[in-house]
Amino acid sequence: MDKRRGPLRHGMVKEADSRGQIPGTPPSARPCGKRLLVLGGGYVGMYTALHLQHRLKGELAHGAAEIVLITPDPYMTYQPFLPEAAAGSISPAHVVVPLRRVLSKCRIIIGEATAVDHAKRTATVTTLATEEEGTGATELTYDELVIAPGSISRTLPVPGLAAYGIGFKTLEEAIGLRNHVIEQMDIASSTRDPALRDAALTFVFVGGGYAGVEALGELEDMARYTARYYHNIKPADLKWILVEASDRILPEVGEEMGGYAIRELRSRNIDVRLETRLDSCENRIARLSDGSRFPTRTVVWTAGVKPAPLLAATDLPRNSHGRLRCTPRLTVEGTEHAWAAGDAAAVPDITSDDPDALCAPNAQHAVRQAKVLAENLAASLHGKPLKEYAHRNAGSVASLGLHRGVAHVYGRKFKGYPAWLMHRIYHLSRVPTLNRKARILAEWTLSGLFKREIVSLGSLEHPRAEFEQAAGGGTGRNTPKPPSGGGGPRST
Ligand SMILES: Cc1cc2nc3c(=O)[nH]c(=O)nc-3n(C[C@H](O)[C@H](O)[C@H](O)COP(=O)(O)OP(=O)(O)OC[C@H]3O[C@@H](n4cnc5c(N)ncnc54)[C@H](O)[C@@H]3O)c2cc1C
Repeated sequence: MDKRRGPLRHGMVKEADSRGQIPGTPPSARPCGKRLLVLGGGYVGMYTALHLQHRLKGELAHGAAEIVLITPDPYMTYQPFLPEAAAGSISPAHVVVPLRRVLSKCRIIIGEATAVDHAKRTATVTTLATEEEGTGATELTYDELVIAPGSISRTLPVPGLAAYGIGFKTLEEAIGLRNHVIEQMDIASSTRDPALRDAALTFVFVGGGYAGVEALGELEDMARYTARYYHNIKPADLKWILVEASDRILPEVGEEMGGYAIRELRSRNIDVRLETRLDSCENRIARLSDGSRFPTRTVVWTAGVKPAPLLAATDLPRNSHGRLRCTPRLTVEGTEHAWAAGDAAAVPDITSDDPDALCAPNAQHAVRQAKVLAENLAASLHGKPLKEYAHRNAGSVASLGLHRGVAHVYGRKFKGYPAWLMHRIYHLSRVPTLNRKARILAEWTLSGLFKREIVSLGSLEHPRAEFEQAAGGGTGRNTPKPPSGGGGPRST
């Protein structure tokens, strides 16, 4: 189903029963009223379901409506905290929100929609159980569709990227990258080969948006701190390179603050290369368009996103970038009973003077769109008029590592410690649930009092390795494994 669970069998599709029975429901279950199907459990999916849960309380209680949410993970990931999770400032469990707890009135199905036939009002769905049962995908019928599968990393055909690149969109990638960086320091510390040491201590990040810059800023900070615990690694031995194809970084915070961010990163010896592209990273050598080459075991790819592949497997209209064409009311253009928002949706920005302007794919829009979408969907069910989504960008905040940041909010610019503090306060106020807020605040407070965590728990990614070795079938966790050609962080 998803990257961790192996490929799905898409070969056969089970016949839908009279109502497109929800997987896991006994056949005797009573038929329900209108089915609202939400695809995706990220910002849009979770917040839409949450608002609908409140607005349709009566209908849900009487069985006049049901909300079914399908998503590959049982949690929503608060992506702006991934860089801090990678740096170890927030524990992984606190970056995610358990969907079953928040959406107690909804049916949550851990699975993936592989296609949507909106003309027939059916979604083809696979779950962990369909894999185990070998029964193939199930068709699920619906009355209203909310389609919010977000986006995936936008890659380019760069030689070596598929084999050696590391993404930074999911919690697994963020924690994998943290473990990988510390592991590289362990390799560098224990090798006698200067070339291997050099490659292990060279970290290349491609893409100067907030994901790339924040990830680099936080990890560089963490690695510099960690270096003090190695007898033979000094912070100056670590080489960090940021490669950006345009002439600026962090376009979200404006030109002046983007320029400040470049100066701040360079003052930390980070090699920021503008108007430069990664041409290849074959054989663990990053070759850049300016002619330079860096042997490295770490290439982090954060050069933008593209809409989720599910959209191409629907009969819904898409624009030239593959996003769903939407109206300002968050309905899918030219259709009835289909709604979309977030990274997957091309929603007109009606606050802009440019009639072709679209809302940017970011959390700021996703959260607000989810609210309007839920209100409109509920209004349409109640026969009330719909409203248009309008939100003028409030600006952006970005962290550049501990106590450093940039912000451009409501026309005002901030840098350094005040911007970093704003970043933390803003995201703390935004992260869903009081429970999460309290836990994150406690973690930040404790990390101010105690020392940072500096361990790599990379072995968690291979929990059976030791037992397999004991049973005589495995190679053990410290034995190098050959590259498999996949995309995740490598430790050999
Ligand atoms: C590292 C990082 C930092 C960021 N920082 C910021 C920031 O500071 N400020 C900001 O405004 N934005 C930020 N963003 C962007 C922001 O997180 C996204 O714009 C936002 O998550 C979009 O919401 P969404 O609901 O459209 O997609 P997502 O939140 O990505 O949710 C999509 C969901 O759909 C699920 N899904 C995918 N395919 C299927 C399928 N076939 N069937 C069922 N479910 C499916 C996914 O698993 C996921 O749960 C950041 C992003 C990253 C990666």
